[in-house]
Amino acid sequence: MKTPILCFDDFTLVTAPAHIVEIRTLNDGKTSIILDQTAFCPDTAGQMCDTGIITDGQATFAVESVTYKDGILHHIGRFTHGSLAPKAGVECRVDEQRRLLNSRIHSAGHIIDMAVDALNLNWEPIAYNHAHGNAHVDYEGSILEGNKEDIRSHLEAKCNALIEQKMATYVMIADKQELGAFTHHLAQNVPSEGKIYVVMYGDFAVPCNGTHVQNTEQIGKLTIRDIKIHGNVIRVDYSISH
Ligand SMILES: [Zn+2]
Repeated sequence: MKTPILCFDDFTLVTAPAHIVEIRTLNDGKTSIILDQTAFCPDTAGQMCDTGIITDGQATFAVESVTYKDGILHHIGRFTHGSLAPKAGVECRVDEQRRLLNSRIHSAGHIIDMAVDALNLNWEPIAYNHAHGNAHVDYEGSILEGNKEDIRSHLEAKCNALIEQKMATYVMIADKQELGAFTHHLAQNVPSEGKIYVVMYGDFAVPCNGTHVQNTEQIGKLTIRDIKIHGNVIRVDYSISH
């Protein structure tokens, strides 16, 4: 059974009740817990995973990483107090500060997409990395070396203007055909079958998993640190204010 990931529908959800489906000991000595539903967000679409704890009120399992494979979400970590067994009723408690930071960095990446679109740069996003301290979006496109600084400053100004519009986000669910009708922006990891989460930033549609801010103003100030050119790949390095 696939693991329902509740935070994909509600980005602010950081606690949820669950039952343990399975507990596995991994080769490296860590433990993996599978739940019947989860509040934890895995590493997805370039976003770093949530951390936190799973507890029944007495035993505590520290969730150090979260991975998603073949529809199953694996909470990987170790017991810091007591132990748990399959079928136990537990609660997921996600580190709220880390979630918010992940959501802000992730959303900032999509603001850059919006700014690239608004400036008609004709770049297509091909990869995202929303890691703390090393965030970037890769685009396929072209840019002259001599125009880099000019474009960097225009892009940064446009991003911050978009953030200051205080756009609310909301989630829609569509299949790939429906999606094509209202966005040209198809992320490469969009599956061809099943439902796709589409996050609307105002009227800009982003097919994407992961968690996002509720309003763009939560992102804060966005800095385009650098633009790097490797062949026809343009890497936009960025950071956000704390
Ligand atoms: Zn995304």
